[in-house]
Amino acid sequence: MKVLIIGGGLSGICLGHTFLNKGVDFKILDAGINHSSKIAAGMINPMVFRKMVKTWKGDELIPFLNAFYPSIEEKIGAKFFFPRKIRRVFSTQDELDKWNQRLNDKDYEDYIYAFDDSDPTPEYAINEFGSGWVKSPGYIDAKIFVRENQRYFINKGKMITESFDFGKFDSDNKTYKDEKYTHFIFSEGYKAVENPYFKYLPFVLTKGEVLSIKNDELRKDEILNRKCFVLPAQDGSFKIGSTFEWNTTDASPSEGAKEQLLEQYGLLVRSPVSVIDQEAGIRPTVADRRPLIGIHPEKESVYIFNGMGTKGYMLAPYFANELYHYLVNDTPLNTEVDIKRFYRKHYNKA
Ligand SMILES: Cc1cc2nc3c(=O)[nH]c(=O)nc-3n(C[C@H](O)[C@H](O)[C@H](O)COP(=O)(O)OP(=O)(O)OC[C@H]3O[C@@H](n4cnc5c(N)ncnc54)[C@H](O)[C@@H]3O)c2cc1C
Repeated sequence: MKVLIIGGGLSGICLGHTFLNKGVDFKILDAGINHSSKIAAGMINPMVFRKMVKTWKGDELIPFLNAFYPSIEEKIGAKFFFPRKIRRVFSTQDELDKWNQRLNDKDYEDYIYAFDDSDPTPEYAINEFGSGWVKSPGYIDAKIFVRENQRYFINKGKMITESFDFGKFDSDNKTYKDEKYTHFIFSEGYKAVENPYFKYLPFVLTKGEVLSIKNDELRKDEILNRKCFVLPAQDGSFKIGSTFEWNTTDASPSEGAKEQLLEQYGLLVRSPVSVIDQEAGIRPTVADRRPLIGIHPEKESVYIFNGMGTKGYMLAPYFANELYHYLVNDTPLNTEVDIKRFYRKHYNKA
């Protein structure tokens, strides 16, 4: 088995580590144009606040990532996974009522808990309906994660900075630039919409923007959340995010997103900020909000590992492992992530 992974963002990195751990021969090509994994806030949030329910597959994803990321930190000798709980400030009475229901539900006891008076909501938070804690395992510092993992794979001779050239790919003979591989796995993030083998899949890309701000008053030991998040970064700044804009692949920061984020921040925090940076990225999101994993309908060596959407840092480690077992042990993929779900409706054999 010899695998070529195209794309060295979060998805390609998780595949790389999974293959390395299992002794699979692989190489990663990365074009050096990352517009999502590096920009992400990297927050691991086990709750979906809109409906006040647990995130999809959270019970399996969280224990998996809790073991995966520290093991990579140790392997590559870099720290990027930082524990932080999330303080959710409620938006409405209805949200508070739903929260209280969950507090009495045993299924949620690993994820949320009520406040006690020993740690009251800070004065600067606008807190009309009360708040509660989410036991998040923390967040990944995305810049450190991408930079250090790419450096690790490059130093090991496992990653090359190069854009995949479709003209030099022979999917029938299973060669790229005349070199033979058994599997080609495309993990190009939003660039998949230009991939001749997978552009038929129903990507619904979403641009996202985050601000970096300075504020010495805010607490550095928690993530504050309502309408936006305020996340303490390692360099003493805070990230405010993030926006959602559909139908664009323009990854440049916009004045509109900055205004929107500052307005949302103003509804959560009464303490002025100075903006020190603004970044934008494109999330590889999918019509049904599930990853896109599996084999091309007609090409037996061509695979995709993509569609990690808004929660890539939760999903990618677990599903990299699932893809490995699919390739090596023939273990079926979860039907909710397998791209076979789109063969009939979206694959046009023209
Ligand atoms: C503003 C913002 C905030 C976010 N916040 C969070 C968060 O808090 N928590 C969370 O879990 N997720 C978050 N995400 C989502 C997360 O970033 C994505 O799910 C994840 O990073 C997707 O990773 P990927 O590797 O699939 O894609 P990408 O990060 O896009 O990586 C694709 C890689 O493929 C390479 N590539 C593309 N085409 C080619 C080619 N032809 N040849 C070679 N290489 C190629 C690129 O150089 C790139 O490095 C956020 C995203 C954004 C934009």
